[in-house]
Amino acid sequence: MSRIVYVNGEYLPEEEAKLSVFDRGFLFADAVYEVSSIIDGRLIDNQQHLLRLKRSLDELNMAEPCPMEEIERIQHEVVKRNAVSEGMLYLQVTRGAADRDFNFPADARPSLVMFTQAKKVAENPAAERGLSVITLPDLRWHRRDIKTVQLLYPSMCKEEARARGADDAWLVEDGQVTEGTSNNAWIVLHDGTLVTRQLSTDILHGITRRAVLRFARERQIRVEERPFTVEEAQGAREAFITSASAFVTPVVSIDGKPVGDGRPGDTARGLRGIYLEEAGKL
Ligand code: PMP
Repeated sequence: MSRIVYVNGEYLPEEEAKLSVFDRGFLFADAVYEVSSIIDGRLIDNQQHLLRLKRSLDELNMAEPCPMEEIERIQHEVVKRNAVSEGMLYLQVTRGAADRDFNFPADARPSLVMFTQAKKVAENPAAERGLSVITLPDLRWHRRDIKTVQLLYPSMCKEEARARGADDAWLVEDGQVTEGTSNNAWIVLHDGTLVTRQLSTDILHGITRRAVLRFARERQIRVEERPFTVEEAQGAREAFITSASAFVTPVVSIDGKPVGDGRPGDTARGLRGIYLEEAGKL
């Protein structure tokens, strides 16, 4: 059965869902996106995803394709029409189609596209096993706080990780870890303190990162928002990543060196449990 994809006002079978070859999302990666997870047919922490979408649009001077309340209504309709109880909802806004020109067109109408991917997200073998990551230089542009579809470098890094037998890559700039290719990076110090890089234009302001910070603080777990080096991470008690699709997933080795005892740690496993427990309220 084919999915129903939303494109600019229409709900279409995926084979019929199309955009112009002149769409600036295609020609210039002039587009932003959001990914929300779905559990029990419900979008998790979706208001925060919509706020970040609004911020990405504003930072790029891109018009809203329709009012944010309408975007939310369409999101729910796409989930419903595809009867997805568990998985992801992808939403993409491009600046629209116009004759090819680097300068922004004055009169293009933004395109809005949404589609679902049904998959198990709560139960994930990777979370049981833990991830191995390699480190690579962070060669992305310097506005990583804007969630653009410029995902070629992260794709190249994931390919490099796979070629080297690893699950993913952490990116490093000026000797410090910025974030994962598609997730925020965390370590747990030997005294139990959580460390994750502070918000800036260097990283995406992860919605899951935000929720996990809140859950940790509510439970009196100490948190430091600061950069850390690869060496500090390798010597940490635990490491993990956060994202809307991975929630909290342990990292068990970095560049071939085991973190802690090389198995998913109690803190990361505990935080994953807390996230899944609280997700229904987000
Ligand atoms: N950093 C990057 C580069 C990402 O692509 C993602 C996933 N969208 C994240 C962090 C995590 O963000 P979120 O928790 O909002 O999914």
